[in-house]
Amino acid sequence: MFYAPYYNLVRETAWQLLIDCKIDAFPVSLSRISGAARIKIIENSSISRLADGEDGRCFRIDKMWYIIYDDMLGLEYQRFAAAHELGHIFLGHGQTGGRSPPKARGRPHREFDADLFALELLAPSCIVQRWEPERIAELCRIPLSCIEKMKITYIEENFLGSPLKRALYNQFKKYVKK
Ligand SMILES: [Zn+2]
Repeated sequence: MFYAPYYNLVRETAWQLLIDCKIDAFPVSLSRISGAARIKIIENSSISRLADGEDGRCFRIDKMWYIIYDDMLGLEYQRFAAAHELGHIFLGHGQTGGRSPPKARGRPHREFDADLFALELLAPSCIVQRWEPERIAELCRIPLSCIEKMKITYIEENFLGSPLKRALYNQFKKYVKK
């Protein structure tokens, strides 16, 4: 069963971030977002902090957020992993990985919500919902498997039905019409 009690909140948080960072083209620039939000994104190969099988994690030191992602993954997976960690930060989940309290770690709905956030950040449904998955993967530079896993988010009944959606759509208008 599709489980996403915070579905709208999650995607609108992602869209608001795209609007705030004036992202108007694909592939979405994660460095522009992290720069604007003053989040430092670090390749794991430079510090080797991730555990086996861990794609990314986020943590805070003083007031600064950091994301470590596995840069040995394919580029599309790297982008999804970093965007997933941005999701944990912007959705208020707190730190992930080794330093977070065990109870907060691996809660299924938080992981699902962070995945949903990543998808809506890198390929917002209000822009791409009518595209073929292969086209989304190619232009947005995200793994096809992540689109397939989350494709429920592209079933949309009310196209451009909210002010936030319209604002984001207008921001991407030039790009979409190219
Ligand atoms: Zn996670």
